[in-house]
Amino acid sequence: MVTTQPYDDDKLHEECAVFGIFGHPESAALTALGLHALQHRGQEAAGIVSSDDVQFHAHREIGLVGDIFGDPRVIDRLSGHSAMGHTRYSTTGEPMLRNVQPLFAELEFGGLSIAHNGNLTNAATMRKDLVSRGCIFQSTTDTENIVHLIATRRGAPVERMISALRQVEGAYSIIAMTQDSMVGVRDPLGVRPLVLGRLGDSYILASESCAFDIIAADYVRDIEPGELVVITKDGLRSHWPFPKQKQRFCIFEYIYFARPDSVVEGLSVYDARKRIGVELASEAFVEADVIIPVPDSGVPSALGFSQASNIPFEFGIIRNHYVGRTFIEPSEEIRHLGVKLKHSANRAHVEGKRVVLVDDSIVRGTTSKKIVEMMRLAGASEVHMRVSSPPTNNSCYYGVDTPEREKLLAANNSVEEIRRLIGADTLAFISMDGLYRAMGHDGRNQDQPQYCDACFSGEYPIQLTDRLREHDPRQLSLLAETGG
Ligand code: SF4
Repeated sequence: MVTTQPYDDDKLHEECAVFGIFGHPESAALTALGLHALQHRGQEAAGIVSSDDVQFHAHREIGLVGDIFGDPRVIDRLSGHSAMGHTRYSTTGEPMLRNVQPLFAELEFGGLSIAHNGNLTNAATMRKDLVSRGCIFQSTTDTENIVHLIATRRGAPVERMISALRQVEGAYSIIAMTQDSMVGVRDPLGVRPLVLGRLGDSYILASESCAFDIIAADYVRDIEPGELVVITKDGLRSHWPFPKQKQRFCIFEYIYFARPDSVVEGLSVYDARKRIGVELASEAFVEADVIIPVPDSGVPSALGFSQASNIPFEFGIIRNHYVGRTFIEPSEEIRHLGVKLKHSANRAHVEGKRVVLVDDSIVRGTTSKKIVEMMRLAGASEVHMRVSSPPTNNSCYYGVDTPEREKLLAANNSVEEIRRLIGADTLAFISMDGLYRAMGHDGRNQDQPQYCDACFSGEYPIQLTDRLREHDPRQLSLLAETGG
């Protein structure tokens, strides 16, 4: 039986990426390239909507960007001076084509295309209300709420969008496109990234700056938290529709999600990861012969750990990059060997050695256990595990696919219990203060943390309205009374 499997169900998954370019004759082709560079943020499906002076053109499919948009005939059909695209990682069940973004709707003022990275925490509440008022939903995505809110407002498209977004709670980086404009907006706390670039006279919006490098565009700046930019043929204008709040960018973007060659909020992701490794070495040094990264995202942290500890760095685990999305479903017995499809030990650098493995996170722990076992089978005399994030013990509700809390190893086990479960000789996670120090702060400001770190701390910076409504409606009414 052929089936589709998640790339790695022992990692958290970023759910989406967005890209848009305004005023370029090759807009669809450049969007396809931009999405290709952002593929790590979502591998289930992708779509592009383009706009010429007369109409919009759309193509959406389940699959990888290169497979969908590699055919030049598809790109040729997406004609126009502007285009925007989206890649998606779906959280539950099979991805449905009707959920693939960008969404498109014909509204009173003309066509509107919209795509979103993040998660709206009051989506179910809003949807219930909109449906009761006669709105007919075509998809199950939270993004469609915004389309209906815009449709039911009055005024110019940007005024409608601002009014709609004032109803919305959650983490979002959105790109929207009308016949003659492109809009980019980040939520007031700036949880998810959105950057502005330039290629000649054309403005570009993208989830990460690595999407600019692939098309030789220049990175201009990050869109600010709570900023809404409108790009037209007359240039770019910023709006500030929300009360100013303290930024709470997702710290996990630095640890794992973002591509290491991206610059996010002015910080190189690669450098941030290396500095986390340096902090980790100072917090949790262990006598050893070799530092081995768990590929690929553990590599910069392992380099930092190695440089700070003066223990040599080696690629002691080799990753097979050709394990695809689809493969023959193996029997239970063979599935047990699953990790070996992706990783194998480089015995020459493991045998007889005291090994320090550096990984970015432990989610369910299944991969960690297999990799520790693999090191022992390859002859390691000791296996120590160092993790460049604090224990992941809470689910994310801001656009990252996380298992339910009960399935998170760290939610139910102490560090010592996790160590025993994965079979390592020692185990250490970076501390929250160490993580903040690596980001250039003195430590975590307990009263006002500088990032969203809810999956480690359990302190959610944006109200979880839908969850509260479901699990604790009394708390929700108290918050409403106190204006919380
Ligand atoms: S909960 Fe974790 S993964 Fe989600 S936005 Fe916050 S830091 Fe990022």
